[in-house]
Amino acid sequence: MNHFAYHKGVLHAEDVPLAAIAESVGTPTYVYSTATLTRHIRVVTEAFGDRPHLICYSVKANSNLAILRLIAERGGGFDIVSGGELARVRHVGGDAGKTVFAGVGKTQEEMEAALAAGILLFNVESAEELEALDAVGRRLGRRAPFALRVNPDVDARTHRYISTGLKTSKFGVPFEEAVALYARAKKMKGLLAAGLDCHIGSQLTQTAPIRAALSKVAGLYSALKEKGHPLAYLDVGGGLGITYLDETPPSPEEYARTVLAAAGATGATLILEPGRALVGNAGVLLTRVLYRKKTPARHFVVVDAGMNDLLRPALYEAHHGLQPLVKRRGKAVEVDVVGPVCESTDVLAKARPLVLPQAGELFAFMSAGAYGMSMSSTYNSRPRPAEVLVDGAAWRVVRERERVEDLWRGERA
Ligand SMILES: *Cc1c(COP(=O)(O)O)cnc(C)c1O
Repeated sequence: MNHFAYHKGVLHAEDVPLAAIAESVGTPTYVYSTATLTRHIRVVTEAFGDRPHLICYSVKANSNLAILRLIAERGGGFDIVSGGELARVRHVGGDAGKTVFAGVGKTQEEMEAALAAGILLFNVESAEELEALDAVGRRLGRRAPFALRVNPDVDARTHRYISTGLKTSKFGVPFEEAVALYARAKKMKGLLAAGLDCHIGSQLTQTAPIRAALSKVAGLYSALKEKGHPLAYLDVGGGLGITYLDETPPSPEEYARTVLAAAGATGATLILEPGRALVGNAGVLLTRVLYRKKTPARHFVVVDAGMNDLLRPALYEAHHGLQPLVKRRGKAVEVDVVGPVCESTDVLAKARPLVLPQAGELFAFMSAGAYGMSMSSTYNSRPRPAEVLVDGAAWRVVRERERVEDLWRGERA
């Protein structure tokens, strides 16, 4: 459910015609919907009802300050993977005490900053990282609260590039080593065993892998409690999928039922790390048609957004819906919608039936709120897009379009 819809043939974000934003701010531009994001936070929270839980939004999905502030104002916490993300969270007044820190390569500087800020939980991903965190804790005269991220060796049945819970993955510690590692950590003065963590992948569309992974992890949680480890948090990760094309991911209610059935009996406070499920369908990328080009093999439509602006199709063979900002009639032909970047993978929509547009026509790539702007780059020296946040009939720029001078900031000729 989202708040992007046609009214009298004109695509709107809430009460704002998207074409008005494109004309005013230019293209390419990301547009986010406050009502959609707010709704997604609410339905996830309601699905878990009065079971003790904390929503820690995965900052890497979309790290714009305005989005982070919206989430903080609605009581959300954060899941971060770098010191940079911690700085963003703190910049908008986000609560470090509701923030968890994951990632296989945290530096000691990043750990120190997070511990000093009062982070809720470090999700530790290796034995050596555990020792580094212990050293940081002792240096600061604190016990660093940690959870081991265990790898449950479950196939998440998603794209292999976004699957993280298999034995061969770089993430987490092997499930079988967890008990020994908690025992070792108990002797370290700079650590406090506060929880247990897992995250098996992203864009999950089936409940079976979630249930399988969490059942294993919940069993381990209870076993660790019995051994006297003072765990209070069971972090079940993120990964709930969304509909890009015809996927049928579990509803938030179904997801909550699955999580609670597997892990509810532990009595732990559940930590949820949704990213895509909150912001994915709350954003679109506006683009303008530059040229049409017909070769013996294909119809191409060249647009002003490229893989540097929206990487997911090139990186994951991902599908994004493509909607004209003003509905058009006519006979559809099969087209490849491509960007200006000098790479053969810069194809944003492949073999789509489309009424052949004129140069200048405006379109929206749908479901682009997650891993869109946050994965953008300036490859080909293309300034990054602007970002706009809509709220009802109001809208504002929440990140200016980059200027060409920004491209070489910090460089010396
Ligand atoms: C990326 C990530 C998430 C969020 O994943 P989504 O699929 O966007 O929900 C949550 N937890 C961890 C550890 C991650 O790396």
